[in-house]
Amino acid sequence: MRHDLNLTIDRPTFVTHLECSLTGERYEADRLHGLSAAGKPLLVRYDLDGVKAALTKDALAARPMDLWRWRELLPVRHTKNIVSLGEQATPLIPLPRTAARIGGSGTLLAKDEGRLPTASFKARGLVMAVSMAKELGVTQVAMPTNGNAGAALAAYAAVAGMEAIIFCPADTPEVNVREIAAQGARVYRVNGLIDDCGAIVGEGAKQRGWFDFSTLKEPYRIEGKKTMGLELAEQLGWELPDAIFYPTGGGTGLIGMWKAFDELEKIGFIGSKRPKMFAVQAEGCAPMVRAFEAGEEFAPRWENAHTIASGIRVPRAVGDFLILRAVRESGGAALAVSDEAIAAAVRDVARDDGLLMCPEGGATLAAYQRALDEGLIARDARVVLFNCASGLKYPLEDQSRTLDRHAPIDFAAL
Ligand SMILES: *Cc1c(COP(=O)(O)O)cnc(C)c1O
Repeated sequence: MRHDLNLTIDRPTFVTHLECSLTGERYEADRLHGLSAAGKPLLVRYDLDGVKAALTKDALAARPMDLWRWRELLPVRHTKNIVSLGEQATPLIPLPRTAARIGGSGTLLAKDEGRLPTASFKARGLVMAVSMAKELGVTQVAMPTNGNAGAALAAYAAVAGMEAIIFCPADTPEVNVREIAAQGARVYRVNGLIDDCGAIVGEGAKQRGWFDFSTLKEPYRIEGKKTMGLELAEQLGWELPDAIFYPTGGGTGLIGMWKAFDELEKIGFIGSKRPKMFAVQAEGCAPMVRAFEAGEEFAPRWENAHTIASGIRVPRAVGDFLILRAVRESGGAALAVSDEAIAAAVRDVARDDGLLMCPEGGATLAAYQRALDEGLIARDARVVLFNCASGLKYPLEDQSRTLDRHAPIDFAAL
């Protein structure tokens, strides 16, 4: 099998239209769209009966293991517009010692998204959004970012030959700011949070015609992120896990996976069983948790947001009601964890099971522990944690020792 088969052959596509996620209002496919008239995210709809007739599990199994094997459930019409950097399927890493330590008796798996291009799962969303932007003739894009999304956008914009202008909070992890610039984008550090950066992008879109790539303000990042759900189902033999813990900022991945499960059921690949979806946030920025606990449909802005898990430092999410809906329908919960618990989780998993998680990934473990302690899930539940970026992208604790090679060395004491 050729490794690039999914990137070189044309396959049928099944997009019928787009739909406002709040009102259901229809929008034409194959045209450039931002938010709906109601100011809410647009969802891509497919002829799922057509997909069901065109795609079998066996045909799928014979394709290379990358994101593009799901072509019939993806929006890109023409293969030539795919701007790939090698979006391979990510592995499920067992965490047996971690599970035993915190008292879980079922299978505990981490989906390690740090293996993707630009070392985070933002690659899934941005490879789709940039491919679609290219297909629809966009040449200049702008984005507010906490780091990883901007890095992925910069990389794929370079592949597409598109101009990218990116705004991030001044305290964004240094490696992110530098990798964005290294990949050819213009990057500005802004003295504010991600939604303050978003306001600048919105104004620039008006004044300069930049295409706004903010989370969920264009329809295709969800389609890229939904491949996490498609992939997970296939990797687990078309049997979804009992619970998924997802570090939630804008919520693209959680919304995307929930959509993926629905589409997989409609094409006959899975049944009606769904995992409990846990939206994980940091105590210093937990708008979804507050709204979940208050029984609200929407989540107002969280003031003075702060956490070491920068990817989930998102004070306000335009898809708030979609996140809350999925969490409630699934019987899951929105949970907040402290920065201390996040740091401890990262340290413990690396030491016990050898996986260096990002802080956001650590947050999912801390939340799993809470869910166990509070009886929200069974001890023998099969659980998947999302580690959304490589731990190497974040500042690490210095735990090294020094040695003077000129002095006598007491090897027994090393
Ligand atoms: C962006 C990001 C998140 C949050 O993802 P959403 O789907 O936008 O909620 C979590 N972790 C990391 C490492 C991220 O970069």
